[in-house]
Amino acid sequence: MANSSCDVVVIGAGFAGVTAARDLSVEGHSVVLLEARDRVGGRTYTDEAFGRRVDLGGTYVHWTQPNVWRELQRHRIPLAVPLDIDKVYWLADGTVHSGSQLDYNAAVSPLAARFFADARARFPLPFEVNAVDNDDIGQETIGDRLDSLALSPYDRDVLDGTLATLVHSYSEQGTEQLLVWAAASFGDWAAFMETAGYWPIEGGTRRLLDAILGESKAELRLSTPVGSIDDDGTSVTVTTRTGERIRARSAVVALPLNTLSDISVSPRLAQPVRDMIEQKHPMRTAKIWARVRGEIEPFFAFAPVGKNPLNSVRVEYLHDGDTLVVCFASDASAIDGTDREAVQAALRTFVPGIEVVDTAVHDWVGDEFSQGTWVHHRPGHLTKAAPGLREPHGRIHFAGGDIAAFGVGGIDGAIESGARAARDVTAALADGHH
Ligand SMILES: Cc1cc2nc3c(=O)[nH]c(=O)nc-3n(C[C@H](O)[C@H](O)[C@H](O)COP(=O)(O)OP(=O)(O)OC[C@H]3O[C@@H](n4cnc5c(N)ncnc54)[C@H](O)[C@@H]3O)c2cc1C
Repeated sequence: MANSSCDVVVIGAGFAGVTAARDLSVEGHSVVLLEARDRVGGRTYTDEAFGRRVDLGGTYVHWTQPNVWRELQRHRIPLAVPLDIDKVYWLADGTVHSGSQLDYNAAVSPLAARFFADARARFPLPFEVNAVDNDDIGQETIGDRLDSLALSPYDRDVLDGTLATLVHSYSEQGTEQLLVWAAASFGDWAAFMETAGYWPIEGGTRRLLDAILGESKAELRLSTPVGSIDDDGTSVTVTTRTGERIRARSAVVALPLNTLSDISVSPRLAQPVRDMIEQKHPMRTAKIWARVRGEIEPFFAFAPVGKNPLNSVRVEYLHDGDTLVVCFASDASAIDGTDREAVQAALRTFVPGIEVVDTAVHDWVGDEFSQGTWVHHRPGHLTKAAPGLREPHGRIHFAGGDIAAFGVGGIDGAIESGARAARDVTAALADGHH
């Protein structure tokens, strides 16, 4: 197999890797960007469905997210303005309730305020999550915290339903990450929910990614999965699964957390990091698009985890006389997103008579290059293990939305961590350390 060399190899062409490759190559370094799939974008994936572009993965961004907002401004890419929605359905205590957005907020806000009461006090600097003294809640799961509130069955379901978009397993996900997210949004859960799940990019995430890639001078190689990364103290050798070896002064590893156990890294990583990589994060959720017959009244719908196959639903677009609805399932294995009738049945929990004519979905859990959706860390991993991957490991630098501090789990965090890795590599190359 051919051998080659360059200044920096960047592995993974999601938002983190593409940002790192752009920044490094613009600095004048020779960069090779290796991507396993035959497309860029990773867990963002703007595809064609129903005769238009839809985002099958990460979608929503916000002007309060500094990294993504800066890139959108730089490339003159606007946000898409969502439909006005003033109808909410929520399944609680065995009944579907409905009301205006204000009615729903009145039910949720006092409960969310109790759940997130300590968010800002615990994470006063939500961009420095490694510095906190957090041992008392380090092992707390979201389920532990829900239990500790001793809510009535109705209130518990209301709170469960609003969290369910972001939950696969109450017993496996740490409270810390939810608190960090709320802290970054002024301690206000409703504000966080707007930043995390409301405003799409006009033209899709691919438009922004292409704009960043357009500035990059890196050599992009698709369909090139990496098998191992070895820092021998003088240089880094990256070996692809087909045996090609690329030598570089540094490497940026911008891979999903749940795929890192498939890569061999030497020298070995620290034990807490290895444990996190081995245990993986537990987000095995699904995002399903449904095309619904006719132009229906826009609505949101929420159901507690385990009580409906679809846990969070929102009308997103009117399209060619029909309506496109985006649905999140807390448990991807509870529903087959390609099964039109199953999706229709789950939507009829909220809106009897709704008719699904087509669906679009990507299986992020079964996809070997993601093995899950967005990150939600297990207890203790966000503050005690992920920071270990934000530090350089010799000539190997890690990046990605999964290990970001501010913006963890999202596109903003991916861009931030890619930019930070590029900054650190550039500094090390300039100092002659790499
Ligand atoms: C369904 C879904 C909905 C989401 N919704 C939102 C949202 O609305 N807003 C938001 O901000 N975020 C959202 N996210 C999260 C967001 O998409 C991710 O946090 C972000 O895209 C991660 O970027 P990344 O570059 O760190 O990782 P990725 O995008 O996963 O990129 C990693 C890349 O590494 C590649 N790779 C894997 N293994 C190898 C290998 N061995 N060799 C070479 N390459 C490899 C992958 O193919 C991939 O291209 C969502 C995610 C999903 C799945």
